[in-house]
Amino acid sequence: MQYRAFLIKYAEIALKGKNRYLFENALVDQIRRALKNVEGDLRVRKEQGRIYVECHSDTYDYEECLQALGWVFGIVGICPVVILEDNGFEELTKDVLRYMEEAYPGCSLTFKVNARRARKAYPLQSMEINARLGEAILDAFPGMGVDVHHPQLLLNVEVREKIYVYSQEIPGLGGMPAGCNGKAMLLLSGGIDSPVAGYMISRRGVSIEAVYFHAPPYTSERARQKVVDLATQVSAYCGPVRLHVVNFTDIQLYIYDQCPHDELTIHMRRYMMRIAEHFAVEDGCQGLVTGESIGQVASQTMQSLTATNQVCTLPVYRPLIAFDKQDIIEIAQKIGTYETSVLPFEDCCTIFVAKHPVTKPSLKSIERSEQRLKEKIDDLVAQAIETTEIVMVGM
Ligand code: ATP
Ligand code: MG
Repeated sequence: MQYRAFLIKYAEIALKGKNRYLFENALVDQIRRALKNVEGDLRVRKEQGRIYVECHSDTYDYEECLQALGWVFGIVGICPVVILEDNGFEELTKDVLRYMEEAYPGCSLTFKVNARRARKAYPLQSMEINARLGEAILDAFPGMGVDVHHPQLLLNVEVREKIYVYSQEIPGLGGMPAGCNGKAMLLLSGGIDSPVAGYMISRRGVSIEAVYFHAPPYTSERARQKVVDLATQVSAYCGPVRLHVVNFTDIQLYIYDQCPHDELTIHMRRYMMRIAEHFAVEDGCQGLVTGESIGQVASQTMQSLTATNQVCTLPVYRPLIAFDKQDIIEIAQKIGTYETSVLPFEDCCTIFVAKHPVTKPSLKSIERSEQRLKEKIDDLVAQAIETTEIVMVGM
């Protein structure tokens, strides 16, 4: 028996009124996007608070379809469905037994039948369907036993125009569908952390744009390509990403010339945040996102984060703030960004990094040294913004 549809399960506990409708529509959009390149005529349908993917062509690629659905935030479970013609209850019973045999060869499990009548004109009521199918299963498979409280197998039988039978649920990614919770600007470097931060924020339904600061010729074309690749990998989850590639060289050199070297990273970070915020506001983002985590490096102590944060007016979201590096690495491996992140191409910060960076910068002294940039910095920032290149990924 072929699976001709998938019932898409999503968490609906927190969804009320208008939220529910927005969530479902965003989910339908994201499922369509994910299935765009899967072979077969696959259609997504929303019906009475349920979402189905149905196959309208003779063939389709089952594995590829499951895999594509496995990338969609907001899906809690994917149930492959067998669709049966309604040729009377006797035929239905035969088909259900055949389904059981194929899906659970040599079946010996506890089970429960869970019938639902979406078509009220069907001659049997749900309770009768449960009882009769249950009996037929017990008769046909001596190893099976009924357990109505904690069955190992829940056999769902939905009577619609046709009859939908399903019992398996493949776990989905969870979270919320991209686009149902606004948009944020991710500061994306070539490291391990920021792609994971992007993944995590978009798992909450936030669409993302990204900004990368490079410093040619101090950073290579390959380092830039690595960030484009990471953005592409993250976009497989969150949808198309508009990546801003900012040439940061002149700003970095100027800071290097003018400011105390132990404060370099803090000053650079502050200008990165300001420029990121400029693009965020321009593009209607509601916040910034970084891969920072308390204490990971000198620029991520509480004092350093305060100094960086001070220049932003938009909220800065740091999904990894309390994560250990090992935990971040495990997520990076799971989502498929790790291999790219560890490619050995320098990013712009490693070149201008001080040997002994301050770990507890005082705001006063940072502000004082920033005064030394007064003469040229506004022009340099304007120029960096003007020459920024936009790369669209994941279209
Ligand atoms: P990552 O693995 O994300 O590079 P990291 O541990 O190397 O993080 P830092 O280099 O201190 O940490 O950077 C902290 C955060 O600042 C990054 O997670 C990223 O959000 C942002 N960032 C740093 N460098 C850049 C850059 N060149 N372009 C864009 N964002 C950057
Ligand atoms: Mg980095």
